[in-house]
Amino acid sequence: MALAVRRVTVLGATGSIGVSTLDVIARHPDRFRLHAITAHRNAERLFEQCLRYQPDYALIDDAVSARELRERLADAGCRTRLLSGRRDLCELAASDESDTVVAGIVGAAGLEPTLAAVRAGKRVLLANKEALVMAGPVFMQAVRDHGAELLPLDSEHNAIFQCLPPGFQPGQLLPAGVRRILLTASGGPFREHDLAALEHVTPDEACAHPNWDMGRKISVDSATMMNKGLELIEACWLFDLVGTDVEVVVHPQSVVHSLVSYADGSVLAQLGNPDMRTPIAHALGFPERLEAGVQPLDLMAVARLDFRPPDMQRFPCLRLAYEALASGGTACATLNAANEIAVDAFLDGRLGFVGIARLVEQTLQLTSLSKLESLDDALAADIAARALAERLLPTLEGRS
Ligand code: NAD
Ligand code: MG
Repeated sequence: MALAVRRVTVLGATGSIGVSTLDVIARHPDRFRLHAITAHRNAERLFEQCLRYQPDYALIDDAVSARELRERLADAGCRTRLLSGRRDLCELAASDESDTVVAGIVGAAGLEPTLAAVRAGKRVLLANKEALVMAGPVFMQAVRDHGAELLPLDSEHNAIFQCLPPGFQPGQLLPAGVRRILLTASGGPFREHDLAALEHVTPDEACAHPNWDMGRKISVDSATMMNKGLELIEACWLFDLVGTDVEVVVHPQSVVHSLVSYADGSVLAQLGNPDMRTPIAHALGFPERLEAGVQPLDLMAVARLDFRPPDMQRFPCLRLAYEALASGGTACATLNAANEIAVDAFLDGRLGFVGIARLVEQTLQLTSLSKLESLDDALAADIAARALAERLLPTLEGRS
């Protein structure tokens, strides 16, 4: 029987996740049709992607770039229609003309369009972990209310999903015989760095991840291990867990992407080369397996797999994430917003590397937390935490 062609919208198409997604989709023209691609500012890459992949729609944030692109595409004979602005972004995410949405925008900016796709009952492939961290309860309630199919793209969560029993229902760890989730972390580029030298690392050093080639924000998050903190929170929302159900394990080779430990002593792991096209192909094709262009894993070349506990002193961001998760309410939205301000400031040279965790910690300490029951609660907490972190920033500049 011929499989239905999936019509896919890729939010954040010009980023690392977006580029990998388009590569997988292009390998299966019989299975996928590209409905829409979106970008924030990278007009040049969006232009190339329109010519190469011929989506029905493309969207860029500002109207002036959209107008220019529209003319260039017309001159090049490309029929992709150009849209712009946040409202069109959310409408594209929810459009009846697509059934699958890849949430590849980075940061809090991805929350509303991703939620729009969820509320439209789409199959949503979630890379944008910040959306879940910011608004976990609201997001997951929307998934249930609107019958969306949420599939994790983050390699660890995709691995966990693959290692859980088929049909696993969130919150059903005990009946499924699951003892614990083991979330692996590479430890980033500064795993072995002299602690004192961390004060002086540069954005380029922080972005040079030993195993993965990713966008700059997640690369810095990996270097501080805030990424693992965000992923811990992400895992708790996706699979309805509490923090103690999840153990973070440092695994420098990034070959085991996470594990599930069962009551009978079995531990199931998902392994593969560190290439995001694997989880992307898994989620795009689910439950079918698709060719992804990924090199098969050569275990002899890998030769050894190491595991060790995380160093919470070296990586205070991981501790802060555990604490925010335990606090609940708006704590995780506050953590996420402060981290986004801190990472931006670090990338701009306004804050030292060690200052990232300090800024997040101070923002959390000075914020009075409240309940998170609606999207507005999450957005308000995000705005307040950003404003506070911006105010605190000058007090940390130069000292960190
Ligand atoms: P990236 O910086 O390479 O790309 C981000 C994309 O989002 C770009 O297309 C950009 O145009 C768009 N974007 C940025 N700001 C925007 C805004 N304000 N409004 C609309 N669009 C905006 O980032 P990435 O590395 O591809 O990461 C994307 C998401 O996927 C992040 O949440 C990250 O944590 C997650 N993720 C990435 C990887 C990876 O390997 N890169 C792995 C796991 C999870
Ligand atoms: Mg990950």
